[in-house]
Amino acid sequence: MCIDRAEGEFLFTKDGRKITDCISSWWVNTHGHAHPYIAEAIGKQAKKLEQVIFAGFTHAPAENLAKRILPMLPGQMAKVFFSDNGSTAVEVAIKMALQYFHIQGIEKNRIVALRNAYHGDTFGAMAVGERGPFSAAFKDHLFDVSFIDPPYSQSLDAAAWYSLDAEMESAKEILSKPDVAALIVEPIIQGAGGMLMYPEDWLDEIFASARSKGVLCIADEVFTGFYRTGKPFATSMLKNPADILCLSKGLTAGFLPMGITVANSKVAMPFQKESYSNTLYHGHSFTANPLACAAALASLDLIEESGFDEKIILISELQRIFAREVHNAYPEVQARHTGTVFALTLKADDGLDYTHPIRHQIYSWFMERNLLIRPIGNVLYLVPPYCIESGELERVHAEIMRFLELVHLKD
Ligand code: PMP
Repeated sequence: MCIDRAEGEFLFTKDGRKITDCISSWWVNTHGHAHPYIAEAIGKQAKKLEQVIFAGFTHAPAENLAKRILPMLPGQMAKVFFSDNGSTAVEVAIKMALQYFHIQGIEKNRIVALRNAYHGDTFGAMAVGERGPFSAAFKDHLFDVSFIDPPYSQSLDAAAWYSLDAEMESAKEILSKPDVAALIVEPIIQGAGGMLMYPEDWLDEIFASARSKGVLCIADEVFTGFYRTGKPFATSMLKNPADILCLSKGLTAGFLPMGITVANSKVAMPFQKESYSNTLYHGHSFTANPLACAAALASLDLIEESGFDEKIILISELQRIFAREVHNAYPEVQARHTGTVFALTLKADDGLDYTHPIRHQIYSWFMERNLLIRPIGNVLYLVPPYCIESGELERVHAEIMRFLELVHLKD
Protein backbone atom coordinates (compact mmCIF):
# COMPACT_ATOMS: atom_id res chain seq x y z
CA MET A 1 0.00 0.00 0.00
CA CYS A 2 1.39 3.37 -0.99
CA ILE A 3 1.15 6.23 1.49
CA ASP A 4 0.85 9.61 -0.13
CA ARG A 5 0.98 11.92 2.87
CA ALA A 6 0.49 11.92 6.64
CA GLU A 7 -0.71 14.28 9.31
CA GLY A 8 -0.93 13.81 13.08
CA GLU A 9 -1.88 10.21 13.80
CA PHE A 10 -3.22 9.65 10.27
CA LEU A 11 -1.71 8.20 7.11
CA PHE A 12 -3.41 9.00 3.79
CA THR A 13 -3.28 6.76 0.71
CA LYS A 14 -3.53 7.99 -2.86
CA ASP A 15 -6.89 6.32 -3.28
CA GLY A 16 -8.41 8.28 -0.40
CA ARG A 17 -8.02 6.04 2.64
CA LYS A 18 -7.30 7.59 6.04
CA ILE A 19 -5.47 5.10 8.26
CA THR A 20 -4.77 5.60 11.98
CA ASP A 21 -1.16 4.84 12.84
CA CYS A 22 -1.63 2.92 16.10
CA ILE A 23 2.02 1.87 16.29
CA SER A 24 3.75 5.18 15.53
CA SER A 25 5.24 3.61 12.39
CA TRP A 26 7.37 1.10 14.29
CA TRP A 27 7.46 3.22 17.42
CA VAL A 28 9.38 6.15 15.97
CA ASN A 29 6.79 8.88 15.72
CA THR A 30 6.08 10.87 18.87
CA HIS A 31 4.41 14.23 18.13
CA GLY A 32 2.52 13.13 15.02
CA HIS A 33 3.37 12.82 11.34
CA ALA A 34 4.61 15.78 9.31
CA HIS A 35 4.53 18.03 12.35
CA PRO A 36 4.86 21.55 10.88
CA TYR A 37 7.19 22.81 13.62
CA ILE A 38 9.68 19.98 13.12
CA ALA A 39 9.37 20.12 9.32
CA GLU A 40 10.16 23.83 9.42
CA ALA A 41 13.18 23.33 11.69
CA ILE A 42 14.58 20.71 9.29
CA GLY A 43 13.91 22.99 6.31
CA LYS A 44 15.69 25.93 7.94
CA GLN A 45 18.67 23.75 8.83
CA ALA A 46 18.80 22.32 5.29
CA LYS A 47 19.29 25.80 3.90
CA LYS A 48 22.16 26.48 6.31
CA LEU A 49 24.17 23.28 6.73
CA GLU A 50 22.77 19.95 5.56
CA GLN A 51 25.73 17.66 6.33
CA VAL A 52 29.40 17.89 7.17
CA ILE A 53 32.07 15.39 8.16
CA PHE A 54 31.88 14.96 11.96
CA ALA A 55 35.59 14.33 12.46
CA GLY A 56 37.81 17.30 13.12
CA PHE A 57 34.65 19.44 12.77
CA THR A 58 31.64 20.06 14.90
CA HIS A 59 28.48 22.16 14.45
CA ALA A 60 25.90 24.00 16.52
CA PRO A 61 22.97 21.55 16.08
CA ALA A 62 25.07 18.63 17.44
CA GLU A 63 26.53 20.70 20.27
CA ASN A 64 23.18 22.14 21.24
CA LEU A 65 21.54 18.73 21.18
CA ALA A 66 24.24 17.24 23.42
CA LYS A 67 23.96 20.17 25.83
CA ARG A 68 20.18 19.93 26.00
CA ILE A 69 19.79 16.19 26.22
CA LEU A 70 22.44 15.35 28.84
CA PRO A 71 20.66 17.06 31.77
CA MET A 72 17.37 15.34 30.82
CA LEU A 73 18.83 11.87 31.18
CA PRO A 74 18.91 9.79 34.33
CA GLY A 75 22.32 9.05 35.80
CA GLN A 76 24.41 12.21 35.36
CA MET A 77 25.43 11.39 31.82
CA ALA A 78 28.55 13.15 30.56
CA LYS A 79 29.26 12.34 26.91
CA VAL A 80 27.23 11.81 23.74
CA PHE A 81 28.40 9.59 20.87
CA PHE A 82 26.43 10.11 17.64
CA SER A 83 25.52 7.43 15.13
CA ASP A 84 22.60 6.90 12.80
CA ASN A 85 20.06 4.34 14.02
CA GLY A 86 19.08 2.16 16.97
CA SER A 87 21.24 -0.83 16.05
CA THR A 88 24.34 1.33 15.70
CA ALA A 89 23.59 3.03 19.03
CA VAL A 90 23.70 -0.48 20.55
CA GLU A 91 26.86 -1.47 18.63
CA VAL A 92 28.59 1.61 19.99
CA ALA A 93 27.42 0.82 23.54
CA ILE A 94 28.83 -2.71 23.35
CA LYS A 95 32.13 -1.50 21.90
CA MET A 96 32.34 1.28 24.50
CA ALA A 97 31.85 -1.19 27.35
CA LEU A 98 34.38 -3.72 26.05
CA GLN A 99 36.98 -1.08 25.20
CA TYR A 100 36.52 0.55 28.62
CA PHE A 101 38.06 -2.57 30.19
CA HIS A 102 40.51 -3.20 27.34
CA ILE A 103 42.10 0.27 27.73
CA GLN A 104 42.61 -0.38 31.43
CA GLY A 105 44.08 -3.84 30.83
CA ILE A 106 41.24 -5.54 32.72
CA GLU A 107 40.24 -8.98 31.45
CA LYS A 108 36.47 -8.61 31.20
CA ASN A 109 34.80 -9.39 27.91
CA ARG A 110 31.51 -11.17 28.56
CA ILE A 111 28.17 -9.50 27.94
CA VAL A 112 25.05 -10.49 29.87
CA ALA A 113 21.67 -9.86 28.23
CA LEU A 114 18.03 -10.61 28.93
CA ARG A 115 16.01 -13.50 27.57
CA ASN A 116 13.65 -12.44 24.76
CA ALA A 117 15.79 -9.36 24.11
CA TYR A 118 15.88 -7.48 20.84
CA HIS A 119 18.55 -4.86 20.27
CA GLY A 120 18.73 -4.54 16.48
CA ASP A 121 19.76 -6.36 13.33
CA THR A 122 23.50 -5.74 13.05
CA PHE A 123 25.83 -8.51 14.26
CA GLY A 124 26.67 -7.19 17.71
CA ALA A 125 23.06 -6.22 18.33
CA MET A 126 21.90 -9.66 17.14
CA ALA A 127 24.43 -11.34 19.42
CA VAL A 128 22.98 -9.69 22.53
CA GLY A 129 19.43 -10.47 21.41
CA GLU A 130 17.42 -13.63 21.85
CA ARG A 131 18.46 -16.27 19.35
CA GLY A 132 15.52 -17.01 17.09
CA PRO A 133 14.29 -17.24 13.50
CA PHE A 134 15.70 -13.82 12.56
CA SER A 135 19.26 -14.66 13.56
CA ALA A 136 19.23 -18.44 12.89
CA ALA A 137 21.22 -18.20 9.65
CA PHE A 138 24.02 -16.30 11.41
CA LYS A 139 24.14 -18.09 14.75
CA ASP A 140 27.69 -19.40 14.29
CA HIS A 141 28.91 -15.84 13.84
CA LEU A 142 27.31 -14.35 16.94
CA PHE A 143 29.54 -13.97 20.00
CA ASP A 144 28.73 -15.91 23.13
CA VAL A 145 26.43 -14.13 25.60
CA SER A 146 24.97 -15.16 28.99
CA PHE A 147 21.22 -14.64 29.30
CA ILE A 148 19.22 -13.93 32.43
CA ASP A 149 15.43 -14.13 32.84
CA PRO A 150 13.40 -11.12 33.85
CA PRO A 151 10.24 -11.86 35.87
CA TYR A 152 7.44 -10.93 33.49
CA SER A 153 4.19 -9.43 34.61
CA GLN A 154 2.10 -11.40 32.14
CA SER A 155 -1.11 -10.15 33.60
CA LEU A 156 -2.59 -7.39 35.71
CA ASP A 157 -3.05 -9.95 38.49
CA ALA A 158 -0.09 -9.74 40.85
CA ALA A 159 -0.58 -13.42 41.66
CA ALA A 160 0.32 -14.31 38.09
CA TRP A 161 3.78 -12.78 38.41
CA TYR A 162 6.65 -15.17 38.49
CA SER A 163 8.61 -15.42 41.69
CA LEU A 164 10.92 -12.43 41.89
CA ASP A 165 13.30 -14.10 44.30
CA ALA A 166 14.12 -17.14 42.21
CA GLU A 167 14.79 -15.08 39.05
CA MET A 168 16.86 -12.62 41.08
CA GLU A 169 19.23 -15.13 42.64
CA SER A 170 20.17 -16.89 39.43
CA ALA A 171 20.64 -13.54 37.65
CA LYS A 172 22.95 -12.27 40.40
CA GLU A 173 25.03 -15.42 40.22
CA ILE A 174 25.60 -14.96 36.48
CA LEU A 175 26.52 -11.29 36.96
CA SER A 176 29.08 -12.14 39.62
CA LYS A 177 31.31 -14.13 37.21
CA PRO A 178 34.68 -12.33 37.01
CA ASP A 179 34.73 -12.03 33.21
CA VAL A 180 31.42 -10.12 32.96
CA ALA A 181 31.99 -6.66 31.43
CA ALA A 182 28.47 -5.40 30.88
CA LEU A 183 24.79 -6.09 31.23
CA ILE A 184 22.50 -4.84 28.47
CA VAL A 185 18.73 -4.53 28.91
CA GLU A 186 15.65 -3.04 27.32
CA PRO A 187 14.38 -1.46 30.53
CA ILE A 188 10.83 -2.30 31.76
CA ILE A 189 9.41 -3.20 28.32
CA GLN A 190 10.99 -5.63 25.86
CA GLY A 191 9.45 -4.39 22.63
CA ALA A 192 10.15 -6.70 19.70
CA GLY A 193 10.27 -9.69 22.06
CA GLY A 194 6.50 -9.28 22.37
CA MET A 195 5.89 -6.16 24.49
CA LEU A 196 6.92 -8.13 27.56
CA MET A 197 6.81 -6.06 30.72
CA TYR A 198 8.73 -6.57 33.93
CA PRO A 199 8.89 -4.62 37.19
CA GLU A 200 11.32 -1.73 37.62
CA ASP A 201 12.17 -2.95 41.15
CA TRP A 202 13.73 -6.06 39.67
CA LEU A 203 15.81 -4.01 37.25
CA ASP A 204 16.86 -1.59 39.98
CA GLU A 205 18.14 -4.43 42.11
CA ILE A 206 19.87 -6.10 39.16
CA PHE A 207 21.60 -2.84 38.18
CA ALA A 208 22.68 -2.33 41.82
CA SER A 209 24.06 -5.86 41.93
CA ALA A 210 25.85 -5.48 38.58
CA ARG A 211 27.43 -2.17 39.62
CA SER A 212 28.64 -3.60 42.91
CA LYS A 213 30.59 -6.18 40.89
CA GLY A 214 32.10 -3.60 38.52
CA VAL A 215 29.78 -4.60 35.65
CA LEU A 216 28.71 -1.72 33.37
CA CYS A 217 24.95 -1.32 32.94
CA ILE A 218 23.68 -0.53 29.44
CA ALA A 219 20.06 0.58 29.00
CA ASP A 220 18.81 0.25 25.44
CA GLU A 221 16.09 2.90 25.48
CA VAL A 222 15.77 2.98 21.71
CA PHE A 223 12.10 2.03 22.12
CA THR A 224 11.32 3.04 25.71
CA GLY A 225 12.93 6.50 25.55
CA PHE A 226 10.96 9.73 25.18
CA TYR A 227 7.89 8.95 27.30
CA ARG A 228 6.74 5.58 25.92
CA THR A 229 6.67 4.25 29.49
CA GLY A 230 4.94 7.40 30.77
CA LYS A 231 8.24 8.69 32.19
CA PRO A 232 10.83 10.60 30.11
CA PHE A 233 12.98 7.46 30.05
CA ALA A 234 12.26 4.00 31.45
CA THR A 235 15.38 4.24 33.58
CA SER A 236 14.14 7.57 35.00
CA MET A 237 12.21 5.31 37.39
CA LEU A 238 15.36 3.69 38.82
CA LYS A 239 17.42 4.54 41.87
CA ASN A 240 20.38 2.86 40.13
CA PRO A 241 20.56 4.34 36.62
CA ALA A 242 22.53 2.94 33.70
CA ASP A 243 26.17 3.79 32.88
CA ILE A 244 25.48 3.80 29.14
CA LEU A 245 22.20 4.68 27.44
CA CYS A 246 21.14 4.07 23.81
CA LEU A 247 18.59 6.33 22.14
CA SER A 248 17.09 6.53 18.65
CA LYS A 249 13.51 6.26 17.22
CA GLY A 250 11.71 9.02 19.20
CA LEU A 251 14.93 11.04 19.43
CA THR A 252 14.08 12.84 16.18
CA ALA A 253 10.33 12.42 16.76
CA GLY A 254 10.49 9.81 13.99
CA PHE A 255 11.48 12.30 11.28
CA LEU A 256 15.04 11.25 10.46
CA PRO A 257 17.34 8.37 11.36
CA MET A 258 19.76 9.09 14.20
CA GLY A 259 21.16 7.21 17.19
CA ILE A 260 23.07 8.39 20.20
CA THR A 261 24.96 6.45 22.82
CA VAL A 262 25.44 8.35 26.04
CA ALA A 263 27.93 7.54 28.79
CA ASN A 264 28.54 8.74 32.33
CA SER A 265 31.91 10.18 33.33
CA LYS A 266 33.11 6.85 34.78
CA VAL A 267 32.77 5.20 31.35
CA ALA A 268 34.04 8.25 29.46
CA MET A 269 37.16 8.70 31.62
CA PRO A 270 39.53 6.09 30.11
CA PHE A 271 38.74 7.37 26.61
CA GLN A 272 39.75 10.95 27.47
CA LYS A 273 43.52 10.54 27.21
CA GLU A 274 44.28 11.13 23.57
CA SER A 275 45.99 8.15 21.98
CA TYR A 276 45.19 5.71 19.20
CA SER A 277 44.42 2.89 21.59
CA ASN A 278 42.09 5.04 23.69
CA THR A 279 39.98 6.09 20.72
CA LEU A 280 36.58 4.56 20.10
CA TYR A 281 36.81 3.88 16.38
CA HIS A 282 33.26 4.06 15.20
CA GLY A 283 32.32 6.61 12.60
CA HIS A 284 29.41 6.61 10.17
CA SER A 285 29.15 8.87 7.14
CA PHE A 286 26.06 10.55 8.56
CA THR A 287 27.23 10.78 12.17
CA ALA A 288 25.51 13.75 13.86
CA ASN A 289 23.75 14.76 10.66
CA PRO A 290 22.69 18.41 11.20
CA LEU A 291 19.18 17.84 9.83
CA ALA A 292 18.58 14.97 12.27
CA CYS A 293 19.98 17.12 15.11
CA ALA A 294 17.61 19.95 14.10
CA ALA A 295 14.66 17.53 14.19
CA ALA A 296 15.72 16.27 17.64
CA LEU A 297 16.07 19.83 18.97
CA ALA A 298 12.63 20.76 17.62
CA SER A 299 11.18 17.65 19.24
CA LEU A 300 12.67 18.69 22.60
CA ASP A 301 11.00 22.11 22.17
CA LEU A 302 7.64 20.36 21.74
CA ILE A 303 8.29 18.15 24.79
CA GLU A 304 8.94 21.26 26.86
CA GLU A 305 5.73 22.96 25.65
CA SER A 306 2.93 23.27 28.17
CA GLY A 307 0.35 20.53 27.77
CA PHE A 308 2.80 17.81 26.71
CA ASP A 309 2.91 16.07 30.10
CA GLU A 310 -0.88 16.14 30.24
CA LYS A 311 -1.06 14.30 26.90
CA ILE A 312 1.20 11.54 28.23
CA ILE A 313 -0.84 11.26 31.42
CA LEU A 314 -4.11 11.08 29.48
CA ILE A 315 -2.93 8.40 27.02
CA SER A 316 -1.41 6.37 29.88
CA GLU A 317 -4.66 6.58 31.83
CA LEU A 318 -6.78 5.52 28.86
CA GLN A 319 -4.45 2.58 28.21
CA ARG A 320 -4.57 1.61 31.90
CA ILE A 321 -8.38 1.65 31.99
CA PHE A 322 -8.55 -0.34 28.75
CA ALA A 323 -6.05 -2.95 30.01
CA ARG A 324 -8.22 -3.41 33.10
CA GLU A 325 -11.37 -3.71 30.97
CA VAL A 326 -9.79 -6.33 28.70
CA HIS A 327 -8.38 -8.18 31.67
CA ASN A 328 -11.81 -8.38 33.31
CA ALA A 329 -13.50 -9.64 30.14
CA TYR A 330 -10.71 -11.88 28.80
CA PRO A 331 -8.13 -12.69 31.51
CA GLU A 332 -6.53 -15.32 29.25
CA VAL A 333 -5.16 -12.70 26.81
CA GLN A 334 -2.79 -11.25 29.42
CA ALA A 335 -3.72 -7.61 28.83
CA ARG A 336 -0.98 -5.34 30.13
CA HIS A 337 0.14 -1.74 29.94
CA THR A 338 3.08 0.43 30.92
CA GLY A 339 2.65 4.15 30.37
CA THR A 340 1.46 4.79 26.83
CA VAL A 341 2.02 1.18 25.70
CA PHE A 342 -0.78 -1.42 25.71
CA ALA A 343 -0.41 -5.10 24.76
CA LEU A 344 -2.20 -8.42 24.89
CA THR A 345 -1.27 -11.94 23.83
CA LEU A 346 -3.77 -13.97 21.82
CA LYS A 347 -3.62 -17.76 22.01
CA ALA A 348 -1.18 -17.35 24.89
CA ASP A 349 -1.14 -21.13 25.43
CA ASP A 350 0.82 -21.44 22.19
CA GLY A 351 3.55 -19.27 23.76
CA LEU A 352 4.97 -16.23 22.02
CA ASP A 353 5.18 -17.08 18.34
CA TYR A 354 6.35 -14.68 15.62
CA THR A 355 4.98 -16.94 12.94
CA HIS A 356 1.60 -17.52 14.56
CA PRO A 357 -1.02 -17.47 11.75
CA ILE A 358 -3.27 -15.18 13.81
CA ARG A 359 -0.95 -12.27 12.99
CA HIS A 360 -2.34 -12.14 9.43
CA GLN A 361 -5.88 -12.21 10.74
CA ILE A 362 -5.16 -9.35 13.18
CA TYR A 363 -3.39 -7.22 10.59
CA SER A 364 -6.01 -7.53 7.88
CA TRP A 365 -9.04 -7.24 10.22
CA PHE A 366 -7.78 -3.91 11.58
CA MET A 367 -6.59 -2.64 8.20
CA GLU A 368 -10.11 -3.20 6.87
CA ARG A 369 -11.14 -0.74 9.57
CA ASN A 370 -8.34 1.67 8.61
CA LEU A 371 -6.29 0.95 11.73
CA LEU A 372 -2.59 0.19 11.39
CA ILE A 373 -1.95 -2.46 14.04
CA ARG A 374 0.98 -4.66 13.08
CA PRO A 375 1.18 -7.46 15.64
CA ILE A 376 4.34 -9.22 16.80
CA GLY A 377 3.17 -12.75 16.03
CA ASN A 378 0.30 -13.35 18.41
CA VAL A 379 0.92 -10.16 20.41
CA LEU A 380 -1.40 -7.27 19.58
CA TYR A 381 -0.15 -3.93 20.86
CA LEU A 382 -0.68 -0.18 20.69
CA VAL A 383 2.13 2.38 20.70
CA PRO A 384 0.28 5.51 19.64
CA PRO A 385 1.84 8.85 18.72
CA TYR A 386 1.23 11.34 21.52
CA CYS A 387 -0.89 13.61 19.33
CA ILE A 388 -3.67 10.99 19.17
CA GLU A 389 -7.05 12.40 20.19
CA SER A 390 -8.61 10.60 23.14
CA GLY A 391 -11.77 9.92 21.08
CA GLU A 392 -9.65 8.23 18.41
CA LEU A 393 -7.81 6.10 20.98
CA GLU A 394 -11.17 5.08 22.46
CA ARG A 395 -12.37 4.11 18.96
CA VAL A 396 -9.27 1.92 18.59
CA HIS A 397 -10.00 0.33 21.97
CA ALA A 398 -13.62 -0.37 20.96
CA GLU A 399 -12.45 -2.08 17.75
CA ILE A 400 -10.01 -4.24 19.73
CA MET A 401 -12.87 -5.29 22.01
CA ARG A 402 -14.93 -6.19 18.93
CA PHE A 403 -12.05 -8.25 17.57
CA LEU A 404 -11.61 -10.08 20.88
CA GLU A 405 -15.30 -10.89 20.91
CA LEU A 406 -15.01 -12.33 17.42
CA VAL A 407 -11.98 -14.46 18.29
CA HIS A 408 -13.67 -15.55 21.51
CA LEU A 409 -16.89 -16.59 19.74
CA LYS A 410 -14.89 -18.65 17.26
CA ASP A 411 -12.96 -20.55 19.97
N1 PMP B 1 16.84 -1.56 20.29
C1 PMP B 1 15.53 -1.65 20.52
C2 PMP B 1 15.05 -1.80 21.93
C3 PMP B 1 14.62 -1.62 19.48
O1 PMP B 1 13.31 -1.73 19.73
C4 PMP B 1 15.10 -1.46 18.15
C5 PMP B 1 14.18 -1.39 16.95
N2 PMP B 1 12.94 -1.93 17.07
C6 PMP B 1 16.47 -1.37 17.96
C7 PMP B 1 17.32 -1.41 19.04
C8 PMP B 1 17.06 -1.20 16.58
O2 PMP B 1 16.78 0.06 16.06
P1 PMP B 1 16.90 0.31 14.49
O3 PMP B 1 15.75 -0.41 13.85
O4 PMP B 1 16.80 1.80 14.34
O5 PMP B 1 18.22 -0.21 14.04
